Amino acid sequence: MVSRKYIVGNWKMNGLRDQLTNIAEIAKVADEYQAVDVAICPPVTLIAQAVTNFPGFAIGAQDCHFAKSGAHTGCLSADMIREAGASMAILGHSERRADQHETDAEVKSKAEAAHNAGLGVIICVGESEEERDAGKAVEVVCGQLEGSFPDGANVDWLTVAYEPVWAIGTGRVPKAADVEEMHAAIRNALRNLMGERAGGVRILYGGSMNGGNASELLSIPNVDGGLVGGASLTAEKFGPIIEAAAAF
Ligand code: PEP
Repeated sequence: MVSRKYIVGNWKMNGLRDQLTNIAEIAKVADEYQAVDVAICPPVTLIAQAVTNFPGFAIGAQDCHFAKSGAHTGCLSADMIREAGASMAILGHSERRADQHETDAEVKSKAEAAHNAGLGVIICVGESEEERDAGKAVEVVCGQLEGSFPDGANVDWLTVAYEPVWAIGTGRVPKAADVEEMHAAIRNALRNLMGERAGGVRILYGGSMNGGNASELLSIPNVDGGLVGGASLTAEKFGPIIEAAAAF
């Protein structure tokens, strides 16, 4: 039921104003492959400038707060992110779950706040290596999804990203059979949460995706795109992933 692949770059804490030229080059590649939805989530400091410089190219954020406003020093509300020009936000990334101790309940609140502000949402889930070795990967990931699932979620604004924590930034990628099993389990969990509409929710794979492995990963059933960290920083590395997605 998903018809278009979605390729999203997560720049994490990388990117000063000079790197806006990289977004320009990426937007140019994206323009060549209209069959693929592409977005870049730069640091928040670059959002407004990127939106102004590259109209029509999707720019997202890497987080937002769940509160509308208030005494939360250093945080940004979903309305602020939206006003800066972002069209979506990555929420519950494993680095935030680890570094900022974000819980499923917080991720759910953030997703609801983001949607209320008019943002699309990518909810990240993924198991640790210990959890996989203990045979608990599916249970852990589906538990995270259920706990983080926003009330009233719909296909127009919800995307899920499966990112095994041990595959992020390590150059290690799970076996295709394990990705297939997990994405099918996520689809099934989504069906339990939202009924048949779940068929239209895009489930991205994230974790060391690059130009060399994108084709294989994107060919796996229920892999509807990619969430890409390191290989999203330049058009040279990100372009081949977009191109690979366009072949489906
Ligand atoms: C990520 O952090 O979302 C990610 C997938 O990173 P990388 O592609 O570098 O593994």
